[in-house]
Amino acid sequence: MKLNLCIDIDGTITGAYYWLDIANRYFKTNIKPSEVKVYDIHEVLKIPREAYLKFYEMYGEEIHAQADLRQNAKEILWKLNQKHNIYYITAREKTLEEVTKGWFHRNELPQGELHLLGSHYKVNQAKELGCDIFIEDRYENAIQLALAGFEVLLMDCNYNRLPLIPGITRVYDWKEIHKVIEEYIAGSNEKSTKIA
Ligand SMILES: [Mg+2]
Repeated sequence: MKLNLCIDIDGTITGAYYWLDIANRYFKTNIKPSEVKVYDIHEVLKIPREAYLKFYEMYGEEIHAQADLRQNAKEILWKLNQKHNIYYITAREKTLEEVTKGWFHRNELPQGELHLLGSHYKVNQAKELGCDIFIEDRYENAIQLALAGFEVLLMDCNYNRLPLIPGITRVYDWKEIHKVIEEYIAGSNEKSTKIA
């Protein structure tokens, strides 16, 4: 069974707090990962949105270029890539295509189709790609996607520990993601055998 896997990048393939060091230096703050309890960085830093956007405009590329890779992400992505279609779906702007591709290349990740949406709304893209499972870290995205009927694996982060709805499974690392996908396939095979 070949699945269409839609996979978010930031906080899902990358670590969730890699922007923190540069942000702390720039804003002269000392925020720790455990204090990042909301998704929007300007709210974490308690600064106006405009101040954050100015910072992001200056340092965004550098920040993304330095992103850390989650443990086991590389190994599992290669395993998934052997059997399934991989689509990387990110809210990053199109202008970040080069830095994003460069990061994938340097980290030796499977190539997969890259979609830079410039928006957090991912439902239409998921529909277009016939998504079977969406792997994501942003709570609001997970809810939107699950409400639209998609299976979502929500990568656990300090900022997404909110009540889940049917269709969303909280996962803690890439090994668990692999296991849940294998179980999903086993479950689907069982269902189709029963129908037959
Ligand atoms: Mg993300």
